[in-house]
Amino acid sequence: MGILFGAGIWFIANSFGSVKLLGKQARGLTKAGKSVMFCHKMRNLDPTFSAEYFLDKSISLMKLIVFSENPQELTICQCSHPLPEKLREIVDIRCRNSGINNYSIRDDVCNVSVTFYTDSLHYRNGKVLPKSDKIRMSLRKIIKKPTNLGFSVTAVTCPSCGASFDAEKTKNCTFCGNAYPLEENEWVVTDIRI
Ligand SMILES: [Zn+2]
Repeated sequence: MGILFGAGIWFIANSFGSVKLLGKQARGLTKAGKSVMFCHKMRNLDPTFSAEYFLDKSISLMKLIVFSENPQELTICQCSHPLPEKLREIVDIRCRNSGINNYSIRDDVCNVSVTFYTDSLHYRNGKVLPKSDKIRMSLRKIIKKPTNLGFSVTAVTCPSCGASFDAEKTKNCTFCGNAYPLEENEWVVTDIRI
């Protein structure tokens, strides 16, 4: 039942109400099995986990990085090497489908790799070019406690001093200076490729 539910949500969230799975819509379909397995496993570890939530979350993190002036300053961006220039060209993006490539869950840490199949507009040399892209993104989260569905990175509470601050662009509490443990509450991006 859990597996079927997960598969249903993943399918509905990805298909945009279209009954046709032809052409572009079929991109990523081969990853459906892995996606369902991932959601099932995560639901066993965290009852509040849902495929829909994870999909929304990963797309919003991808967009945050793509449209940020300075993505490497974002707390959620923990990529070790510079982001591809081609990502910086994107001025509009629509995610058509997505799928899990692989995942690992070890010592309460989950690492997962997602591919987004997108239709986007690139701005290059004064021209706007429509493109179909494949964006591969890796995410990491500490999963020892259930997902806090009300969590917002822009208004976190410091576990050391109780102060509230915006953790989107600052890794440390602005009052006491202690590092905020973002990965306990939020997925962070460890790699993004196009
Ligand atoms: Zn503090």
